[in-house]
Formats: sequence, structure tokens, C-alpha cells
Amino acid sequence: MNKDISNEKANYVGTGMQHKYSPTLLVMSSEQCVSVCEWCFRGRIFEGKKLEDDKVADATEVIEYVKTHPEVKNILFTGGDSFLADREYLKKIVLGVNDVKHLVSIRFGTRAMVLEPSRYNEMKEIFDLSKKPVYIVLHIVKPEEITQELVDITSNAYHMFLSQVPLMKTVNDKPERIRGIFRKMSEGQIDPYYVFQCRAVEGNEVYALTFKEAYEILEDAKKELSGVNKRFRYVMSCDAGKLEIVGIDGDKAYLRYHQARDPENFGKLITAPANAVWLVEGKPLFLKDNKFVH
Ligand code: SF4
Repeated sequence: MNKDISNEKANYVGTGMQHKYSPTLLVMSSEQCVSVCEWCFRGRIFEGKKLEDDKVADATEVIEYVKTHPEVKNILFTGGDSFLADREYLKKIVLGVNDVKHLVSIRFGTRAMVLEPSRYNEMKEIFDLSKKPVYIVLHIVKPEEITQELVDITSNAYHMFLSQVPLMKTVNDKPERIRGIFRKMSEGQIDPYYVFQCRAVEGNEVYALTFKEAYEILEDAKKELSGVNKRFRYVMSCDAGKLEIVGIDGDKAYLRYHQARDPENFGKLITAPANAVWLVEGKPLFLKDNKFVH
């Protein structure tokens, strides 16, 4: 049983700051969400099982870290939900990094805006302070979450919206549900970005799909999606990096490093059992009797 299956502990470079991939600094900006998702891969935060550094990062430390690390090209505000972060805190960081030349963009991860779209209007003044392009990454699970209200806001906004969709058994594991999500995103001009393999954290057993099951659902969904609508990548964020599941052949899954903790692995192709649900230190994890086992 593991509450930190992707070994986020190893990514911390300071309280609330994770630096796993050289171009991206992940900043814990809030420990709250509008509602706690049952499938949350950081459920430990809400269950009293936090890692030592699972806390909101200090704004001054974030600014200093970005300034002194030229390899950091973007900041990803996460949490919890970045839309629930303290506004003055966000403003301080956004203004503090505005003139850092090597910083290219800023991302805000949120599910709050999906559930309550008008939250965008409250956050807009912060985004408008940024001299860097702002991307808002929406955590979407079902087609019906993309309401007319959300579409009206995202399609009329001048900030950029991306999607991240965890693929989960019983929640959205039907090709027509996936098609529905990506077609509706198109109405809202939300760019397809990632579909995530459901993280094998303790408590997520009921949502787990094997690589083969998930791959086949997505390929089936893609058959009736236009090229524009199927630009998403099906990925797994595990301890070694972000692996794109690019194919299944018989009992083998083929995965390619899209991001890598060890830069030597970039682009490398590896195989795993097609009936596995996750990889930990390169070893496959399977679902057996409703438990994750090696
Ligand atoms: S919005 Fe994200 S961080 Fe918050 S409970 Fe859901 S999955 Fe977890």
C-alpha cells in the first residue's frame, strides 16, 4: 500500500517546491480543493498522511529559486487547487517572476474552475498581472462537466486552456464518454493535453485499468475523433518520469519517456506487461484481488 506511488518525496527541493523535470518547477500553492476527488493521487494531503514538504511553498523562496535556476522555464501552480490559493500570495509570486528572462510561462492547475466556472473571473486579475503567458490546466473527468457556462468563459477568454483527464474504471472508461469529453472541449476551445493512467495509490484500486484496457478504450474513442480533438497524449506520471503509452502488441505495452527524472532516458522506449496497471522503479504493478501487487 502506497500513498506516494510516484515518489513525489524525491522531487522536493524545499517546502512545497518540486523540481522533477528540469524545465518545470511545481509549486504547492494551496492545500484545499472545492471537493475532494475520490481518485486524488495526493489524497494523502486530505487524510492526515502528508509528506514533510507537502505544504504551501513560501512565496519568497519560490521567487528566489526561479531566479537562481535558469533551467526553470515554467512554474506549475498546483495543490490542492491553485484557484483556491491565497490571492496575495499568487500575486506576489507572479509579480516577483515577471522580469525573470529565462522563465517562459506559468501554469495553474484547477478542478475548481470546472466545477465552478465563474472562479475564472475572480482569478483573472492575477493572470492579467503576468507578463508571461498563462495556461490554465483543467482537470476534467466527465463530458457533462463541460457546461455551457464553462464553454462561454473558456471560449471568450484570452488565456489558454489545456485539459487533463484521468481515465478511470466506472467513471469514464467508455469510448463514447471519452469522445464526449474531447468534443465538448472543442466547443470551449480547450486544448487536448493529457489523459492520465489512474495512479495506483492506495484507495484507487476500484478505478484501475490495465495499460491494455486503457489503451484500447482511447484508441476506440479516437476512431471517431478528428485530428484536432485527439491531440491528447495518454501518459503515466510515475517515479521515473512521464511515460507515454504508445502501443500494445500482444502481451506487451510499449511506453516512451515523454519527461524523465534522469535526462538520459528522454525519448527512450521501454516495454511492460500489457496487463500491468503501473510501474514502480521499473517493476510492473498488477491489480489482484482488488489490491496492487508486484
Ligand atoms: S482537484 Fe486535484 S488535488 Fe484536488 S482532490 Fe481532486 S485530484 Fe486531488
